[in-house]
Amino acid sequence: MSQINAESPHTMNTYGRLPVAMSHGKGVRVWDVNGKCYLDALAGIAVNTLGHGHPKLVPALQEQVAKMIHCCNYYHIPDQEKLAAKLAELSGMTNVFFCSTGLEANEAAIKLARKFGHLKGISNPQIVVYEKAFHGRSIATLSATGNEKIQKGFEPLLGGFIRVPVNNIDALKSATHNNPDVAAVFFETIQGEGGINPMSTQYLREVRELCDQKDWLLMIDEVQCGMGRTGKWFAHQWAGIKPDVMPLAKGLGSGVPIGAVVAGPKAAHIFEPGNHGTTFGGNPLAMRAGVETIRIIEEDSLLQNAEILGNHFKEELTKELQDLRGVKEIRGFGLMIGIELEFPCSVIMGRALEAGLLLSVTADTVIRLVPPLIMNTAEANEVISILVPIIKSFLIEKESELKASEQEAFLQKASV
Ligand SMILES: *Cc1c(COP(=O)(O)O)cnc(C)c1O
Repeated sequence: MSQINAESPHTMNTYGRLPVAMSHGKGVRVWDVNGKCYLDALAGIAVNTLGHGHPKLVPALQEQVAKMIHCCNYYHIPDQEKLAAKLAELSGMTNVFFCSTGLEANEAAIKLARKFGHLKGISNPQIVVYEKAFHGRSIATLSATGNEKIQKGFEPLLGGFIRVPVNNIDALKSATHNNPDVAAVFFETIQGEGGINPMSTQYLREVRELCDQKDWLLMIDEVQCGMGRTGKWFAHQWAGIKPDVMPLAKGLGSGVPIGAVVAGPKAAHIFEPGNHGTTFGGNPLAMRAGVETIRIIEEDSLLQNAEILGNHFKEELTKELQDLRGVKEIRGFGLMIGIELEFPCSVIMGRALEAGLLLSVTADTVIRLVPPLIMNTAEANEVISILVPIIKSFLIEKESELKASEQEAFLQKASV
């Protein structure tokens, strides 16, 4: 392992990086600078929808780079219109604003909700947000995030948020009871960073109904769970509902930075010229990446693949792991899978890396698998065959640690 390549003397210390440097990838495999190969079940955190070096994506992007990378939004950008129309078709919504990241998409959603409120005469509009939510790391989006670790050190937080627990319609109703300032409800269909926590179908439908009743915007952050990952274009579509505002990013451009806020009729015309903008947003390179990503997902039936392979993953992992002490739950939709253990297990990320597998651990105790949508069954089985023994030996270790500490406690008691 080359230490030189793993050092970061000049980048800010914002990530606890693993001691490898990545070089290149092909399909669902990635190589580090020393030539070691890894199977990719992380996809750059649900970003590399088409894996690495996709034979249909690469030539399209090469052509686009040579043609035009950026021109700014003073002009019409044909692929922006094309991608917006496609996202409208897939979501059943109508208008899109483009930006470059997930937090920017959420920032735009928050601004939409506030202006929606002001247009209705609410001078202090409030947005309902959720425990364990993750919406990004700008001041507005970290304030909406439900994780004190992410907020600590950056107070004062932005006001205007009401926080409620997930999947509890009574809690939502009582937190907003007789409050005329509520303008929107904002959540992820499946919380990603919060530990792969899906909103229930029933809850999604109940919130949609409540938002209709109260004339609130329903804003669904599909930055991580959207773009086909769950086997539908957008995870909320499993519940047969439609949001009013939907931020997207991660998987939309297969690795080219891109974000989007898709809006339905209730929110599509809130912004006027001068209300919002961003220099890079919607540039020709990012738009081409989005257009081609969607085209290839359709051509190669990757939604079906995500659903079928996701079920295969869940069945196999359940078979292998569910009876083990220390395994709490295996959950998720499609290729967004969480394995929750009883113990903090971030060490598993490093152990998997050593064994040639890329994955992550989120919310301390949840092993997260979000592989590229192009993965096949043989590759999925390979992921499972590397991961299962790592989990098993980790749990055996925890078990014996537990026994040792029980024994110590017993001996201490006995000696008193
Ligand atoms: C990753 C993520 C974000 C933030 O996206 P960035 O591109 O990192 O700013 C927001 N919401 C959800 C659900 C995410 O998973």
